[in-house]
Amino acid sequence: MKRILITGAAGFLGSHLCDRFIAEGYYVIGMDNLITGDLKNIEHLFKDKNFEFYHHDVTKFVHVPGKLDYILHFASPASPIDYLKIPIQTLKVGAMGTHNLLGLARVKKARILIASTSEVYGDPLIHPQTEEYYGNVNTIGPRGVYDEAKRYQEAITMAYHTFHGLETRILRIFNTYGPRMRLNDGRVIPAFIGQALRGEDLTVFGDGSQTRSFCYVDDQVEGIWRLLHSDYHFPVNIGNPDEITIKDFAEEIIKLTGTDQKIIYKPLPKDDPMQRQPNIDKAKEILGWEPKVGRAEGMRLTYEYFKSLSPEELAKEEHKDFTKFIN
Ligand code: NAD
Ligand code: UDP
Repeated sequence: MKRILITGAAGFLGSHLCDRFIAEGYYVIGMDNLITGDLKNIEHLFKDKNFEFYHHDVTKFVHVPGKLDYILHFASPASPIDYLKIPIQTLKVGAMGTHNLLGLARVKKARILIASTSEVYGDPLIHPQTEEYYGNVNTIGPRGVYDEAKRYQEAITMAYHTFHGLETRILRIFNTYGPRMRLNDGRVIPAFIGQALRGEDLTVFGDGSQTRSFCYVDDQVEGIWRLLHSDYHFPVNIGNPDEITIKDFAEEIIKLTGTDQKIIYKPLPKDDPMQRQPNIDKAKEILGWEPKVGRAEGMRLTYEYFKSLSPEELAKEEHKDFTKFIN
């Protein structure tokens, strides 16, 4: 039986990855310090004999007994609000956490895939973004802690590949969404749906002309599965190229939720990328992958999830006014 360590297992993507690898017959070791994750995302797995969970901070020495075939390193705060609230932890998990996991992969002779991000392209000057683009990042801006941690993560991963011959995979994730996103992480989808469900106005930042391209979680997980099992060690973009402005997206949410909320405008956060769209030619060519779930279907499934949360959960004070963290 193949054994895999998944860090960030209690988070949004990590928990879906645990489900996928359990379903594929793997023995899954989930690891998380719960700083932005929640055990409720994986509690259904606790009774599975092929799943175990370590409550551990990966910036500290990581010990896992027994053999390991694969490591998926997904631990990291992932939303602009989270990394504004916990900037030092964000830097540490990308740098020290990644170093620890690369060391573990080396000892175990395991293949490691690291979760990088479209943020390595910063506020991109080319469009759509190809893997060859070096990016346009403000190192000392509010996003610098995340962007530079991820850029360092890619660099040290490539160094372990070249210097130690480690089997490495580098995944550049573009905005991915779906059930189990946290209601108060400030990312645009939980933010807008939460606001619609609470009867609040939708907060569009700037004039809403900035674009994003949203990928449904099942498509992302399939891309990760294929990249892990490929023999390609250079970075690969995984995302859905269907691009939309944030203002048009807010209007779509109002239609989807059937509410008559207004759109209100708030200042654009510093260094908010103006355009983001993945070029996925590499994923198509090397992995035979492309997204299958359109935004209408993906958003319907995501809305179902948020609607199923209890009214007490939805009304929690901490979910409101997340914008106060933004500078
Ligand atoms: P998330 O916040 O839901 O999950 C991250 C998980 O990592 C949480 O459970 C958190 O508790 C855990 N974690 C953080 N620091 C840790 C530490 N030091 N030790 C152990 N666990 C720690 O976020 P997500 O959206 O699931 O993102 C997962 C990964 O994917 C991150 O590395 C993120 O940078 C990357 N990513 C996600 C997206 C996206 O659109 N969802 C886009 C680009 C990159
Ligand atoms: N955004 C917005 N209103 C919100 C939350 C986010 O207009 O309440 C915008 C944000 O400024 C950005 C886009 O939506 O332009 C996507 O933001 P998110 O935090 O989801 O991800 P990222 O900026 O990292 O792509």
